[in-house]
Amino acid sequence: MLHANLTERGSVCQEARIRRKQIPSHGLRCGLRNLALGCVTYTRGAMCRRAVGWQHIDTGFQEGLLKCPCRSTAGDLNQQPQDAVHVMLECNETDAVRHRVVAEMNMVVGREGTEEEKSTWNQLSGQRKLNYSLTTASLLPTPTEAKVKMAGARQWVLGMRKAADQLHRENDGYEHMVEREAALLEVADNIGAEIEKDLEELVAIPIRYAAGPSRGLPPPEQTTGAEVLSTEAL
Ligand SMILES: [Zn+2]
Repeated sequence: MLHANLTERGSVCQEARIRRKQIPSHGLRCGLRNLALGCVTYTRGAMCRRAVGWQHIDTGFQEGLLKCPCRSTAGDLNQQPQDAVHVMLECNETDAVRHRVVAEMNMVVGREGTEEEKSTWNQLSGQRKLNYSLTTASLLPTPTEAKVKMAGARQWVLGMRKAADQLHRENDGYEHMVEREAALLEVADNIGAEIEKDLEELVAIPIRYAAGPSRGLPPPEQTTGAEVLSTEAL
């Protein structure tokens, strides 16, 4: 266990060392690390999880509340939950950010790279370049790599800051709306439970009659032997 912890800590330290070499700027390095850990503020996912009563909403309704309103180029709703992964890697609203990340890195390789480095770089798809920009993956010699990684990190940090501002405007009040929905659902559930309780009471009354008198309610047409005799005497 201790060995596992030490090994894990060792690999975390090693990754931090690699990251420092690849992205010498402390601000950009921290900004990119936060994004890679999913720290994208004002997404519907982040706001819903903060809303009081969220855990009491049933999963089908939760899914509807989480959906991103973005549309594909054909105009169809994408229907994906709006979380950090969606906003960074899928959302149509942030296409321009991903485009700028790749374009900036392409520009740096074109300007700074050797022919061999350019050849390596140009074989990568856009998706692989994005993965490269977010991870500690290494493809190029250190001086070029640091410039390319810094360029990518800068575009991620700036682009996602703008995206967060946009989300803040779009999702303003979303958390309170979710809290109101949760409160309404709770009221409806309580009313439903009360109605069910009343129905159970109604169903239970004949059972109580059959079982004999209870709670002061006399069973109907209850007679004693003496009453029968006196009726017959009449
Ligand atoms: Zn979206």
